[in-house]
Amino acid sequence: VLVVKVGGGEGNRIEPVLDDLADLWHAGRRWVLVHGGSARTNEVATALGHPPQFITSPSGFTSRRTDRQTALIFTMVYAGEMNKTIVEGLHARGVNAVGLSGADGRVLEGERKKAIRAVVNGRRLIIRDDYTGTITRVNSSLLHLLLNAGYAPVLCPPAISQEHELINVDGDRAAAALAAALSAKTLVLLTGAPGLLRFPDDPASRIATLPLAALDDAMNTYAQGRMRIKLLAAREALEGGVQRVIIAASNAAHPVRQALAGDGTVIS
Ligand code: ADP
Repeated sequence: VLVVKVGGGEGNRIEPVLDDLADLWHAGRRWVLVHGGSARTNEVATALGHPPQFITSPSGFTSRRTDRQTALIFTMVYAGEMNKTIVEGLHARGVNAVGLSGADGRVLEGERKKAIRAVVNGRRLIIRDDYTGTITRVNSSLLHLLLNAGYAPVLCPPAISQEHELINVDGDRAAAALAAALSAKTLVLLTGAPGLLRFPDDPASRIATLPLAALDDAMNTYAQGRMRIKLLAAREALEGGVQRVIIAASNAAHPVRQALAGDGTVIS
């Protein structure tokens, strides 16, 4: 089985990804799709009068501040609009898709961070009412059940905590955990960028291949912002037994086919 994740940030396109996935499905290839929804969540949260806030950890990772109200808006957008329009698009292409959040069947279990260290305007704070977490366990039996019965699983955050709370987990790292749990050989992370770029503003500076041993250096130097989390996810997938992780553009003509042909950054 193949695991494909499509981002939900600005610059992503989902339709060509669904075209490719439907072709693969009809050719007998089985996959699990994971998706994001960050840009749409920002819009809806703003429209609902609860605008998004982002916090930066002392090690420089940025994440969404997720109080309970944000967790509910996040769930509404990811597991609602985003997930169901993808399911709709797959049905229109003849694929019998089933959309699930990580909380359904406890497919994605995580640990809520009870105290988050954050740097806000140069000052260090501790936030205790946040519903963000990290995946600690994947329960893949439901996914096998669906795949074996001919259904195509479409997954998204939130995950569920040990205390049964909906938690915001990173979609790239969720896809990595799923790929490892399903013993996938390949994980494809489709995003707004054409891959990992040596110079983030220059699409021609794509790095075609990256050995696992060079990941740390990339994370500490030229990969910035959300790209660093993708590299972290790539490392987690490879350490979990996945053979290769491909970061590639979702807005290509044939994003999945092109990524599988190596048109992106292949990390192994
Ligand atoms: P998603 O597509 O999963 O929603 P993002 O779009 O938030 O994720 O994350 C990918 C973004 O990371 C790119 O669109 C780009 O702006 C940024 N980025 C930072 N550094 C790099 C880099 N070195 N190479 C490619 N993209 C980078």
